[in-house]
Amino acid sequence: MLRFDIITIFPEFFHEAVDCGILRRARNAGLVEVTAHDLRQWTTDKHHVVDDRPFGGGDGMILKPEPIFAGVEALTGAGRKEDLPVKTRVILLSAQGQVFTQALAQDISENASHVILLCGRYEGVDERVADALVTDEISIGDYVLSGGEPAAMVVVDAVVRLLPGALGSDTSAVFESFSEGLLDHPQYTRPPEFRGMKVPEVLLSGNHAEIERWRKEAALEKTRRKRPDLLK
Ligand code: SAM
Repeated sequence: MLRFDIITIFPEFFHEAVDCGILRRARNAGLVEVTAHDLRQWTTDKHHVVDDRPFGGGDGMILKPEPIFAGVEALTGAGRKEDLPVKTRVILLSAQGQVFTQALAQDISENASHVILLCGRYEGVDERVADALVTDEISIGDYVLSGGEPAAMVVVDAVVRLLPGALGSDTSAVFESFSEGLLDHPQYTRPPEFRGMKVPEVLLSGNHAEIERWRKEAALEKTRRKRPDLLK
């Protein structure tokens, strides 16, 4: 069982997202548990303030460290990354983090049993969180989102579908894009001809060795054409 705890000021963002498709099935099968927690529950003041102005001046607000540290402490028993239980990862979603890849998703799915996802908002998160609490700082790409919630959902989705049994067949994820350093081969379904566009003959031949060879060559050609950087 892999446990995700998401710390956010918008827990409602996740309610429907975790309740459909493969993620819902994996939760029902007991492979994964996903809980979104409101950061405000770990504030100690009357108004549940989670943000404050940046030292040194400048625009916007910064998420304060105290409720985030308190939340991670409540969920893991540890207030510093060195003291985290084994197989626990504290991930900060951040435009400045390492870019999320299939290899990182694989690493988390194989090596973690408890993942805390910290969603930033406003101008970001007090740097002491990244310094002392976070094991992984992850970006989902070189662009800036309004908050870490969509990025947290991307991480949950990509990791869960790699858990054994999540896709219904243990081998389904093995041949997908990126898992072997290539894009997936082209896929077709019925009808065999649509508006004059025909499905490659070999896929209708029933010759499995020939189909396999065609798929390998087509995956290589597609990768060369669309993502030549993957071949380097
Ligand atoms: N001032 C920050 C900067 O320039 O790096 C951007 C803050 S952004 C408006 C607010 C929050 O959205 C961040 O704290 C982070 O949690 C999340 N976020 C923004 N872009 C992201 C990305 N590419 N990947 C993951 N999280 C992102």
